[in-house]
Amino acid sequence: MGSATAYWLLHYDPAIRVAVVDRDMTFARSSTLLSDGNVRIQFNLPENIAISQFAMDFLEGFSETMAVGEWHPDPSCRHQGNLFLVAPGGEDDARHGLEAQNRLGESVEWLSPEQIEAAYPPYAGTTYVAGTLGRRDGSVDPAAVLEGYRRKAASLGAEYIQGEVQAVLRDEQAVVGVEVGGDLLSAPVVVNAAGAWCADLAETAGVPLPVTPIMRSVFVLEADIDSELLPSAFAPSGLYVLAEPGNTYLVSWSLPTDPVGYDFSVSRQHFDDAIWPELVRNFPAFEAVRVLRGWAGLYANNVLDGNGIIGEWPELAGLYLANGFSGHGFQQCHAVGRHLAELILGRPPSLDLSKMSPARILANEPLYEHAGRLI
Ligand SMILES: Cc1cc2nc3c(=O)[nH]c(=O)nc-3n(C[C@H](O)[C@H](O)[C@H](O)COP(=O)(O)OP(=O)(O)OC[C@H]3O[C@@H](n4cnc5c(N)ncnc54)[C@H](O)[C@@H]3O)c2cc1C
Repeated sequence: MGSATAYWLLHYDPAIRVAVVDRDMTFARSSTLLSDGNVRIQFNLPENIAISQFAMDFLEGFSETMAVGEWHPDPSCRHQGNLFLVAPGGEDDARHGLEAQNRLGESVEWLSPEQIEAAYPPYAGTTYVAGTLGRRDGSVDPAAVLEGYRRKAASLGAEYIQGEVQAVLRDEQAVVGVEVGGDLLSAPVVVNAAGAWCADLAETAGVPLPVTPIMRSVFVLEADIDSELLPSAFAPSGLYVLAEPGNTYLVSWSLPTDPVGYDFSVSRQHFDDAIWPELVRNFPAFEAVRVLRGWAGLYANNVLDGNGIIGEWPELAGLYLANGFSGHGFQQCHAVGRHLAELILGRPPSLDLSKMSPARILANEPLYEHAGRLI
């Protein structure tokens, strides 16, 4: 989010000065590098659908747009599709989402269990009554996207500063800068793009954000099931199986019991006790799998409504937020970076994301996606 915003700011106005501050320039614990890289049209809110449509279009030219000299990032976009499975009783919600997506020009398909079993036998199961298939959905390499934005922003003049931001500094009405390692960096605009740490940072300026860090673990499995022929699948319970090259699969399941806090310790026990049984309950074909490895990362969980908080904090001029993206922020960095740059520079927004502004936090007006779709 930080590097995408820096790129868009300098794209629009090469004369401004932009610094990106991060405590760790390897980004090893950033959620971006620890994400699954899934991108999907299949959201319910028109804003989220439009954000993804822009992402998919922009990613097509990403390698060229982000080229620096001879260097090109390769985002490795794959459109293997996402198959969202519908629980009994969930048909109306799912149809509502599909209609919104297709109204906006997509062609997401409704599949019966028989059609799913015929087309994708490993996903035969009894926990769903239908599925929606978005063939444009797929995955993108997060490291390539981060590196693309970072190198391009730097080539346009962004200064990358390694350091811990201890506080956002302010006077009565406006931000005046940030404190980094005891030094003051003065600036009339500060963008909080601190991911799972965003609420701690906002608090230093007296801004309360309803965002908590929650650990999510991902396991890489190998199965004797041809992954090239499969879309990724999302079970009604939220467990998902992302089809990767070479018969490997990324599997994860967000649970209310996932640890809150800055915990990165992945647990094989969690796989054995919770994830594997749920995987097999949904997709019996995955009973025999080999666990290759696993990792844990943090969701910046927006406990108000699960959606991104994008824009200027109404009670503090100059503090812009790109926060609380929960499990879907990687794919949103393109549209969010552009949107923030437009707001900051006073340009007309390309997308109307006003409903996602932080004003809804103060008004306590949640902007809900269909809950089961928030992965
Ligand atoms: C396991 C997992 C799977 C996911 N899968 C997907 C997916 O498939 N698709 C999708 O779209 N999204 C996914 N997400 C969500 C996505 O990763 C995030 O929403 C997105 O990457 C957030 O980007 P960000 O730039 O806001 O935060 P981050 O990438 O976390 O970057 C925040 C940066 O801020 C720095 N920082 C924080 N505080 C300070 C400070 N005080 N001083 C200096 N630096 C600081 C950190 O070092 C970090 O580098 C997933 C997340 C996880 C954890």
